[in-house]
Amino acid sequence: MNDAGLRRDLSSWYARAKRDLPWRKNSTPYRVWVSEIMLQQTTVAAVTPKYEAFLRRFPTLASLAASGEDEVLKHWAGLGYYSRARNLRRAALSVVADHGGEFPSGFDDVLALPGIGRYTAGAVLSIAFRKPFPLVDGNVIRVFSRLFGLKGRAKDPAFAAKMWPIAERLVPKANPGDWNQALMELGATICTPDSPSCGACPVAKHCVAFEKGLQDKLPVPEIARKPVPVKWTCLWIEKDGKVLLWRRSEKERLLKNLWGLPEAGRVDAKPGLLITKTSHSITHHALTVELREGELTAAPPSEAKWVARREIRDYLVSSLWLKLGV
Ligand code: SF4
Repeated sequence: MNDAGLRRDLSSWYARAKRDLPWRKNSTPYRVWVSEIMLQQTTVAAVTPKYEAFLRRFPTLASLAASGEDEVLKHWAGLGYYSRARNLRRAALSVVADHGGEFPSGFDDVLALPGIGRYTAGAVLSIAFRKPFPLVDGNVIRVFSRLFGLKGRAKDPAFAAKMWPIAERLVPKANPGDWNQALMELGATICTPDSPSCGACPVAKHCVAFEKGLQDKLPVPEIARKPVPVKWTCLWIEKDGKVLLWRRSEKERLLKNLWGLPEAGRVDAKPGLLITKTSHSITHHALTVELREGELTAAPPSEAKWVARREIRDYLVSSLWLKLGV
């Protein structure tokens, strides 16, 4: 493998073909960090409008640290994986407390922040601080697997671990952030999971999978995980223009620590007429959710609260509730 030729061809393609994404302008550590956290498990199309709105509400790390958790969750609404938003706020608090409000530039300090792993540390340090740290995500694993003809499953941690030394070897001292983004851009737009566009690929001449016709076999396809069915009956309990909401506990399997409509059996209430029904996916869980009218038969539990009808959207951040027309 000609590393220099690969770097040259991929970098020049990225310089002319990169997408115009909001976090690529004014790449401060804060802006890069927020974008990288949002982009974990979420598509660019879903993140772009949310990212801009989030930064309008929390333009600086200090403004994020100064905000309450519910406020941050509200502006994360619809992005899913809400622990990311909680960790973002906790990390902002930690930067204020331990680093005088300046995002740290040392690898160990960045890695110590809540919600930041080796990938995100590499992204922030290379893109915002221009330090030559590598990164490996799902895109990079797929690209390396094909480029270097490496056989394995992308989600296998042992296979992923083999990619770090390669990423380390390739990351250049000059413009490491552009190089890392170029790799991810290639994976997102050309070397896609299904039917990679090898005819349009700027590094096809360096690619083992292309040469051997293995691009559809590498990485080895994942074994499909069977969705776990989950059924909920949620209750719409309304009194004097207020609706009863219930904060799901830390122990819940799904939507933990988030406000929702109470589930039957979690408050003393009688389920009544069916209002609507929907299906919704959370990670590998396939939810079927019924929304029924409900009538309290005893005082609500301490983790419930009455909220004015017009304010409940401020509490219900999961898109599940939108699907139910709440
Ligand atoms: Fe991916 Fe095809 Fe390019 Fe190889 S030639 S890196 S398989 S898009």
